[in-house]
Amino acid sequence: MTPSECLFCRIAQRQLPARIAGEEDGLLAFEDVNPQAPVHLLIIPTEHLPTLADATPAHTPLLGRTVQFANRLARERGLGTDGYRLVVNCGAKAGQSVFHLHWHLLGGRSFQWPPG
Ligand code: AMP
Repeated sequence: MTPSECLFCRIAQRQLPARIAGEEDGLLAFEDVNPQAPVHLLIIPTEHLPTLADATPAHTPLLGRTVQFANRLARERGLGTDGYRLVVNCGAKAGQSVFHLHWHLLGGRSFQWPPG
C-alpha cells in the first residue's frame, strides 16, 4: 500500500478530515471515529509503518516519544489519576484493521481484563 492509499497517511497529510487532538515531531493524535470510551484517541507516526512488528531499532526513539506523547494527552484529559489504556493491535488476528501503526488511547470508563 502506498502512502497515497493509506487512510492514516492521508489524515497525517491533511488530505482527509479528522478531529486532531495534538501533534508533535513525527506524531499525530486524533479522535477515533467510532469511540469505544469517552476518550478514544488514535496516535500515529506520520511516517507510514504498517504494523508495530515493522518497527526497527531505528524507531526506538519514536516509540519512546509515543509513550510520552500518550501520557501527556492522557494527563491533559484528566485521566492521569483514574488510569487509561494504551493498546496496539498488531496484525489482522489481533484485530488490526487499518495497516498504519496506531496506538489506541482509551479512558474515561472502566475496562476489563482480559479484553476478549
Ligand atoms: P484497529 O482495529 O486497531 O486497526 O483500529 C482502527 C481504528 O481506526 C478503529 O477504532 C476505527 O474506528 C478507527 N478509524 C477508522 N477510520 C477512521 C477515520 N477516518 N478517522 C478516525 N478513526 C478511524
